[in-house]
Amino acid sequence: MYNFGAVKIIIIGSGLAGIAIAERFMAARCDVTVLSNTAQASSTAISTGMYNPLVFRRLNLSWMIQDLLPEIHSFYGSIEEKLAIPIKEPIEFARRIPSQDYHHLWEKRGREKPLSTYMGPIKDGYGTVKHAGMLDCTLLKVQYERYLRAENRLIDRSFSFDELSFKDGQVCIAEGNFDLVVFCDGPYATQNPYFNWLPFKLCQGEWIIIQTETPLTSRVLNNKVNVIPMGENRYKLSSSYGWETLDWQPQEEAKKDLLRGFEDLFDVPFTIIEHRAALRPTVSDRRPYLGRHPEHRSLAIFNGLGSKGVMLAPYFSKHLASHLLEDTPLMPEVDIKRHLKRFRHANEG
Ligand SMILES: Cc1cc2nc3c(=O)[nH]c(=O)nc-3n(C[C@H](O)[C@H](O)[C@H](O)COP(=O)(O)OP(=O)(O)OC[C@H]3O[C@@H](n4cnc5c(N)ncnc54)[C@H](O)[C@@H]3O)c2cc1C
Repeated sequence: MYNFGAVKIIIIGSGLAGIAIAERFMAARCDVTVLSNTAQASSTAISTGMYNPLVFRRLNLSWMIQDLLPEIHSFYGSIEEKLAIPIKEPIEFARRIPSQDYHHLWEKRGREKPLSTYMGPIKDGYGTVKHAGMLDCTLLKVQYERYLRAENRLIDRSFSFDELSFKDGQVCIAEGNFDLVVFCDGPYATQNPYFNWLPFKLCQGEWIIIQTETPLTSRVLNNKVNVIPMGENRYKLSSSYGWETLDWQPQEEAKKDLLRGFEDLFDVPFTIIEHRAALRPTVSDRRPYLGRHPEHRSLAIFNGLGSKGVMLAPYFSKHLASHLLEDTPLMPEVDIKRHLKRFRHANEG
């Protein structure tokens, strides 16, 4: 690959988006710095980290899964090697078959290609899902930040938009001048004056961990929630989707919903061990946001990973890095140009 060593880039944010794009730029030998407040709440730190090739409602393949899966394996695999930590593991995953109709649909779809690659037989009232897995996002974030710190590439503080100025085609902040700033600020992007014209539709996500007296399942079970075995009779119930209360604090209502999903499957005593919440950077058309600012070409964004950051970050970080460094075209579905009218509208008044 061409040596981009002279390109000075600063990435704002060290969640899945920031980590992925940092890796891509480093692979291209750019001069990379990440600025992030590592103590701040983030989506990645709370993420359950599952990747699932199926959309259960109508039993379709998840968007672009055949392109995304190979990148998931190679990208997280290379980070595991680089940081010498295990972060990704395949899971035994099973979807509850709630009705005869769904049973027929599962069997029909399970015979169709390419769906059959990802669907297994129905066993004990659950359809088997193949090629699903789990990424330890909390460990990845902490260890990647540690790596950046050791490499002298991390500025650990809050970034304020007042400090940003432009000079001779570069962006200036307190720590120096950069050719490119890539905002990977996740749900905080709604407060980003350069990109808040994009239609974010944030979503609060929560999970709880419960402990039971006896073992329930060794597989991850999906019904209204995922019941994820964590060892020692502990199960994570994940996750809720709250569109009204947008808060980083756990809500009583979400807890009730998660427990209802669990109690649909098991009638056993349990105690609640932990309850956590975060915001997901979800967007109105459920496709990521990639691209340069329409006027300030030295500012770019990688965001909108929504509820599928683990699946989307590897493939689309590569796609964006290639666009920013080599000017390759972006897929129209992910290019922020699709919302250009909103930018113009926001700047008219
Ligand atoms: C409960 C829950 C469960 C989930 N489960 C899954 C799952 O199973 N599978 C899946 O694929 N996805 C899941 N997700 C979604 C996934 O977590 C997100 O898609 C992903 O983490 C988004 O990453 P991000 O880097 O865009 O945002 P974030 O992780 O929020 O990162 C944003 C970063 O920007 C930094 N930042 C922002 N503004 C500033 C500033 N001004 N100064 C300094 N730093 C700043 C923050 O500190 C943070 O480091 C889940 C999310 C939640 C909440």
